Amino acid sequence: MKVLLVGSGAREHALAWKLTAEDPSLDLIAAPGNPGIAQHGRSAAVKAADIAGLVALARDERPDLTLVGPEAPLAAGLADALRGERLPVFGPSAAAARIESSKAFAKQVMVDADVPTARAERHVRPDDAKRAARALGAPVVIKASGLAAGKGVVIARTLGDADRAIDAMLVGHSFGEAGREILVEEFMDGEELSLFALTDGTRVAPMLPAQDHKRLLAGDAGPNTGGMGAYAPVSLATPALVHDVVERVVRPTLRAMRDAGSPFSGLLYAGLMVAPDGTSPRVVEFNCRFGDPETEALLPLMAEPLLPRLLGVARGEASEAAIEWSGRHAVTTVIAASGYPDAPRTGDTIRLPDAIPPDVHIFHAGTSRAGDGRLVTAGGRVFAVTAVGDTLAQAQRSSVRAAASIEFAGSQYRADIAWRELERHAGAA
Ligand code: AMP
Repeated sequence: MKVLLVGSGAREHALAWKLTAEDPSLDLIAAPGNPGIAQHGRSAAVKAADIAGLVALARDERPDLTLVGPEAPLAAGLADALRGERLPVFGPSAAAARIESSKAFAKQVMVDADVPTARAERHVRPDDAKRAARALGAPVVIKASGLAAGKGVVIARTLGDADRAIDAMLVGHSFGEAGREILVEEFMDGEELSLFALTDGTRVAPMLPAQDHKRLLAGDAGPNTGGMGAYAPVSLATPALVHDVVERVVRPTLRAMRDAGSPFSGLLYAGLMVAPDGTSPRVVEFNCRFGDPETEALLPLMAEPLLPRLLGVARGEASEAAIEWSGRHAVTTVIAASGYPDAPRTGDTIRLPDAIPPDVHIFHAGTSRAGDGRLVTAGGRVFAVTAVGDTLAQAQRSSVRAAASIEFAGSQYRADIAWRELERHAGAA
């Protein structure tokens, strides 16, 4: 078996680890990969944004599957180009990837499919947008419609903040093309959950729900980031809730995508807001690929091989059989570079511990090799450190201990990933 894995983050390292752990004979090629992924296979110096280069690589290597990690190459049509070459691919077409690359499109699909979500209006004119914000009242959410690397969302506490965000996007072009159209959206209160569904467009297999931590600082304070950690399972997400989301969110969305002539195949990521008692799920956003860092928490808990599931999806023969999980707990702590998220510093020398404890996975994100072979920081999020434990508290302790054992100047991480769940456990005890 040969797999071409597109991407260079901790999500891709976790996928590379999982696929080679379940099949050590797998021929894995990462494009471009990173120093952590390089421990599991070959690397090709083709960037994830280089669609023509990736297609040429796939034409050359003829992998049994191309697995696309990030959203940008999907939105740029990588899956379409590979299918055009009759090469199996896990990931949606560009038309279907609009569920993530256009929040306006995603909102329309949800309205058509009667999927529970926040009320929203699309706007291109500042005055109309400001009127819409007043009609909804503060707090109100202002979103750039296009891809903005998770940064195009402003939760405006006051109408003044809303006006400033609207002007920044529509007049100041702070998100460029991605903010040419915006959504003015009702604010939803509650707890966020991520649910991933493997699907060939019709059949669905949900993964275990996970919870991401978007804020930089402990207690969910500080600025929004690409994600500072995740854990699974989440007790709030009962099997009944998952069933409800599959029936009321995932299946209707897939049906609407088929009806619109853009069937979705790959991983549909539903970002949900749920009430404090775990009911009334509403969609915050859809993504068209594995989430980062939730994937790093989920894959070490998966008690069955992943590749057959991915191949089934790529062939249009996905299985609906329930995915098996180990029943243990995983906590992923992200280690970010100095200055993250605004202006991450790169080039700091990294010292990794000599020995890694059992049940701990150090997934590389923004790392690279300097000319002299030193491992150095090369991005905002540098590592995702996952620990698996029999209890959540044990997994958290071990994840934090492992994060503390990785040294580089200015490293920052949260020591409280899964704090809400630990409070729930304490409350239940
Ligand atoms: P998105 O890029 O749409 O996922 O938004 C980024 C983050 O903003 C989400 O993970 C939520 O924390 C928050 N957010 C987005 N939309 C809303 C909303 N309507 N109400 C409350 N929070 C939201």
